[in-house]
This record gives sequence, structure tokens and C-alpha cells, in this order.
Amino acid sequence: MIQSESMKTTQNAIKVISFDVEGTMVTTDFSYAIWFETIPQRYAERWGLSFEEATRKIKQEYDSLGDQHIDWYDVQYWFTRFDLGKADIAMEGLQPRVKYYPETKDVLKKLDGKYKLSVASGSPRLFLSHLLRDTAHHFSSIFSSTSDFQQVKTTDFYKNMCRQLQVEPEQVVHVGDHLQFDCLEPASIGIRSYYLDREGKSGDPAAVRDLAEFAETIKSL
Ligand SMILES: [Mg+2]
Repeated sequence: MIQSESMKTTQNAIKVISFDVEGTMVTTDFSYAIWFETIPQRYAERWGLSFEEATRKIKQEYDSLGDQHIDWYDVQYWFTRFDLGKADIAMEGLQPRVKYYPETKDVLKKLDGKYKLSVASGSPRLFLSHLLRDTAHHFSSIFSSTSDFQQVKTTDFYKNMCRQLQVEPEQVVHVGDHLQFDCLEPASIGIRSYYLDREGKSGDPAAVRDLAEFAETIKSL
């Protein structure tokens, strides 16, 4: 867990548990399908290229914008830029590609009722409407940093989130798989932040390996 200096002397009870979505509750299968299957496939058809050539081209375009830029997350932005039509219709067809990690639904069921559950995602609402279709009923609030605040998950985003939830940062626990967006940024304002490292690649002894381990760990808070 990463916590700020001020946290160590604060004994606020947890009121809200906040979850990242992709890489945390659901796999990246759905996103992969849209970004690296549907878009290059359509790009290839639209511009008369092979799938491989189209893939190379769109990857260059994605990289040239970069994930710190707000438009990078906006699938309709790319559909428009590449002249591929309507993104939402293409995404509906990919609904079967949404895959939850095996422990996610059980953990949500266990924690629901004990705490207020909330979502803090960098994915646009258009994605979340698919990714959370089966689990949205567990969450009292769903925040999309890109759709609601036009930013990635910065400290400002987390401050706004706490304000809207009407809680102090010290009353929030957040878990997610991105070291900067899910740990460093929220921890810097006092949110108790857990780094989810499913593959154990970080070597960080404080990281949790899955959501079941996360739920076990926060019992002692
Ligand atoms: Mg994530």
C-alpha cells in the first residue's frame, strides 16, 4: 500500500471502496478487440490495405498521440479520424468479449453492503456501459475521468471524486493496476491506494495479486 505522510496519523474509518475497471475487475479483452481487431479490420477495408499494414498504421497513430492525451481514450475520435463510422454500433457487437477476472464478482458481492462501492476508471463511459453491464448494480457511483472530467486519473480527478462522494480522501480505499493512475496519484491526496499486480512483475511486496487478496488485506484496516 502507498500512503501519504499525513495518512499515518489519521484514523478515519473506510466509507468507500473505489475500483479501477480494466486490468482490475475485467480483462483488457474487450478493449483489445476494439482497438486491435475491429479498428484495423475496418481501416484495412476503408483504405484498401492488408490487416497487417492497417495494424501498423493505426498503432503509429495511437502512439503518436499517447495515453496522456484525452483524445487517445475516445474511440469515436478514432472512428471519425479514420472515417470508420459509428463506434457504438461496433462496440455493441463486441459485448461477448467482456471478461471478468475469476474472483471479481464474488469479491463485489462480499464487499457490497459493508462499504459503499464506487468505480474510478480512465475508460470512457461508452466502454464502461459495456464493461460494467453485469456489475453496475453493486456501485453507488461510477466515475469516468475521461468522460466526466476530461482528464486522465490525476490528483484533481480524485479530489473531485471525493468531493462528489462527500467523503474525505482518508475514508477512501482505491485499488487498480496502474502504478501512476491508481496508486501514486490517489495516494498523494491521502487515499489508501493498493497496487494490483496480477503477474507479480513489479516485485513490490505491498502489491496485491488479485481482488480476493485485496479484500483480505483491507479487513485489517
Ligand atoms: Mg486499469
